[in-house]
Amino acid sequence: LAKKTRQASIVFEPRLEQRSANRLELIAQLRKAINENEFCLHFQPKLNLRTNSINQAEALLRWNHPTHGLIGPGGFIELAEQTGMIKEISRIVLTQIYSIIGLCANQNIRLSANLSAMDLEDNGLIEFIKHLHARQPDASRHIVLEITESAAMRDPEQALDILNQLASMNFQIAVDDFGSGYSSLAYLKRFPVTELKIDRALVQGADMDTDGQIILESTIEMGHIMGLLVTTEGVETQAEFDLVKKLGADYVQGFWLSKPMPFEEFKLKHLVGNHD
Ligand code: C2E
Ligand code: CA
Ligand code: CA
Ligand code: CA
Repeated sequence: LAKKTRQASIVFEPRLEQRSANRLELIAQLRKAINENEFCLHFQPKLNLRTNSINQAEALLRWNHPTHGLIGPGGFIELAEQTGMIKEISRIVLTQIYSIIGLCANQNIRLSANLSAMDLEDNGLIEFIKHLHARQPDASRHIVLEITESAAMRDPEQALDILNQLASMNFQIAVDDFGSGYSSLAYLKRFPVTELKIDRALVQGADMDTDGQIILESTIEMGHIMGLLVTTEGVETQAEFDLVKKLGADYVQGFWLSKPMPFEEFKLKHLVGNHD
């Protein structure tokens, strides 16, 4: 199924814009998708290299389009951000995460969700999360919120305020895509972050490139010096896996381990009998 999903997003993403008469049509379709809840989440497992077990996964958004089939975020997230519709989509994502966590009572599970830059400027989102939190106060310790550094840097003071509120509700915060662009760990010290997710750009091919290996190794080391758990993303090959394990990464995520899948499948494969 995961394979089919990937193909679907590759086939449909370019055509989606071509076939939609124009941007306005795509906006209207996205509007309808929000109103009729055409979104679902797929989950990509993370392997804990310390315990050699899987009890975490990243939630990745999919649009179940009535005629184009399953579309990955590359096909619509940017437009959702440009139009502000991402705010509603983030609420849908968090609501779905909360309901899944609610169904997994007593399971040793942790799910991560992606927030976009706009979410860190949206006081309404914090109010929305407080509302979810009030009804399910135990859920937040099962949730990691992933933010990119560039999102946090758009308005650092505002982002710091929002992230501090989230941390005080017991959410974990992860810095996503680290090393994919301009990154400075120095700044990260100010934010209540507990995990560093190293972008696949630093991981892929590092096993065949001495400089790449040195950069990856020192990035993992820096993360650890700052007291962060380190996840390496985009691990596709056995050689890349062997390398990140040797270099001391705490978690591994990537097609080598598994592609994203519907929650039911993740649960059957990895969570059965896995209690707190
Ligand atoms: P991301 O947060 O960096 O998520 C990882 C992306 O890399 C996912 O693509 C995943 O399927 C893909 N991936 C995982 N392992 C491998 C691998 O070994 N090799 C390669 N080449 N790719 C791998 P996806 O699902 O298409 O998501 C793309 C981006 O869309 C995400 O990047 C994230 O920035 C954004 N996104 C996904 N879901 C959400 C969401 O709910 N809200 C927001 N705001 N953004 C989202
Ligand atoms: Ca992410
Ligand atoms: Ca990432
Ligand atoms: Ca990304």
